[in-house]
Amino acid sequence: MDLIRRARGERFKTLDKHEVNKLPDGMWEKCHGCRELMYVKDLDANWRVCPRCGYHHRLSVDQRVALLTDAGSWQEVEHDLRPVDTLDFTIRGKRYAQRLPEAEAAAGTLEAVVTGRATLEGLPVILGIMVMEFLGGTVGAVAGEKVARAAEHAAAERRGLIIVSQSGGMRLHEGTTSLMQMAKASAALARLDRAGVPYISVLADQTYGGTTASWASLGDVILAEPGARIGFSGPRVNQAVKVKLPEETQRAEFMLEHGMLDAITPRSEMRQTVATLLRHYRLNLASEPARALLAAGRTMGRGSQTA
Ligand SMILES: [Zn+2]
Repeated sequence: MDLIRRARGERFKTLDKHEVNKLPDGMWEKCHGCRELMYVKDLDANWRVCPRCGYHHRLSVDQRVALLTDAGSWQEVEHDLRPVDTLDFTIRGKRYAQRLPEAEAAAGTLEAVVTGRATLEGLPVILGIMVMEFLGGTVGAVAGEKVARAAEHAAAERRGLIIVSQSGGMRLHEGTTSLMQMAKASAALARLDRAGVPYISVLADQTYGGTTASWASLGDVILAEPGARIGFSGPRVNQAVKVKLPEETQRAEFMLEHGMLDAITPRSEMRQTVATLLRHYRLNLASEPARALLAAGRTMGRGSQTA
């Protein structure tokens, strides 16, 4: 078997427990899907998708930017906004104010959302990326504000909006303020919709709670990466409230089957798919008759809702 894999040019290693501990840091990584050890360089070159089993490992912000923007076009906005511990909140013996610098160090960002202007295949876009390493990608006032502002920039500048969601839900440390972000961002996205600017929502592993219940589900087109865990709450919360859900019910594939997603798009096709969708919306919006038709459809939709 090993001979066949070598002949295919695959670089892999099967090691026992002791050998694994002796490996130099950062050179090899174990696949979360098939448990095979792979060269980190090979994994990175393949957008961190396992060439053997197709498992989509988490991307860093830089990698996500490289995947979804043209080289050199990315300009981060609102980069100096950072959360504040307004409630003097303490959880498991540690204050939120103390946790924030640790989260910054772990994530390399000041919040769980990073936003910026860029171009994708020459098309102007606003891109938002959620960061799981920052307190589990949870959403507080600043994260919600950044999503809302991203929608406002997109509307004002008529740039397509792309948000890559991965989030543990709303941030407990900020109480009700965190819940309010769902309404604020949703209202900003409704204004973007009325401005006729497209919004492509991309759901990566894992997207839970208030994020699923707001902007992640409000895209004109909603895409997900294969195998992404999407749903109401993660395994930790389910365990705490003693609820056992069949694992497959919170997967992208199940969500697609039940009409919650438009498509599951492998990472290798993500850039092209998002660009094609944006180009399609742009073509439609560029022509006056199409715009009039769209406006008429919206009026009809609103009328039937209020009737
Ligand atoms: Zn694998």
